[in-house]
Amino acid sequence: MKALLYYGNKDIRLEEIEKPKPKSNEVLVKVKYTSLCATDIEEWQYGPLWIQTTTSNPLSGKKAPLVMGHEISGVVDSVGDINYQNLIGTRVVINNVLTCGKCYWCQSGHHAVCPSMAVAGLSADGGLQEYMVWPIKNIIPVPDSISDEEISLLEPATIAVHAVRKSGIKPGDIAVVVGCGTVGLLTLQTLMAAGAIVIAVDIKQKKLNLAKKFGATNIFKVEKNISSLYKQILSITNNIGPDYVFETAGAEESPELSVNIARRGGTIILVGIYSQKPMFDFNQIVSLEKKVIGSVAAENNDMKHAVNLVSKGTIKLKPLITETIKLSNVIEDGFKKMLDGDKEIFRIIVKPD
Ligand SMILES: [Zn+2]
Ligand SMILES: [Zn+2]
Repeated sequence: MKALLYYGNKDIRLEEIEKPKPKSNEVLVKVKYTSLCATDIEEWQYGPLWIQTTTSNPLSGKKAPLVMGHEISGVVDSVGDINYQNLIGTRVVINNVLTCGKCYWCQSGHHAVCPSMAVAGLSADGGLQEYMVWPIKNIIPVPDSISDEEISLLEPATIAVHAVRKSGIKPGDIAVVVGCGTVGLLTLQTLMAAGAIVIAVDIKQKKLNLAKKFGATNIFKVEKNISSLYKQILSITNNIGPDYVFETAGAEESPELSVNIARRGGTIILVGIYSQKPMFDFNQIVSLEKKVIGSVAAENNDMKHAVNLVSKGTIKLKPLITETIKLSNVIEDGFKKMLDGDKEIFRIIVKPD
């Protein structure tokens, strides 16, 4: 079968490999779609960042070369233990985060920062292959109301659910979402579901228009004159400013922008991953008593919440699927298009066969 393997910086190879066999605690999943994410491109362009090349992950036993892809939709093809035969044919989303369950953080319910964590496509073989094996306890059945294509976007939806849950936002609170890419627009929809009033900020009008469609009360295009953006946001928040700012853009300037937008005593949730070191004035945090929270990956229940919100139609994934491509064209039709700043691209999804 075909698989796309990460070897190192700008070195990704399509190879013919042997179909994996599930162990007794695992299933073999026929991959339906795997969605491409900025993290994948960063590994290709600037990496290795998350993918280990020298030491194997303690949970998966894997290091590069490994199969990429961490946003995965599939169907159970076979099982390692006959007792789980009833799972065959079940449509599933891969809960891509494996944690040890034994460390200080796992024991205190903070799985997202388990030091042994293995993630499909980054520290374990992922979904850019025709079949993959994965532990039974980390597959989540998905109802028919969610299509195979949409299932591959449940992982970024989970990132949004995790960030919103961590923030502790309450109904009626005002939130600004900085960055209206896939994760930004999923965060926006999750915030709406939590009863928040949401304002969207981006550099692209088309993305802002979609934010408006999803229910943003106000949209603002970031122009060179940043101070006018601050003034406008202040004027629609009774000159107080928003309670929460969710930074999902991951750009060098966006953390500073987000900290400045938040009201005195407000909270900034950083969801973006930064390829450069952002600079900002820490005195903004100290003197105005602002709180900054980091949010990465997810806890075990976040993905189940995402499945529920999407199955009820509260979070819409379809408008975020831009294109479907073949496994053999990931770099040409996927990465290169995603890197083209002029294109309005959300998720490009890959059909592995
Ligand atoms: Zn991702
Ligand atoms: Zn752990």
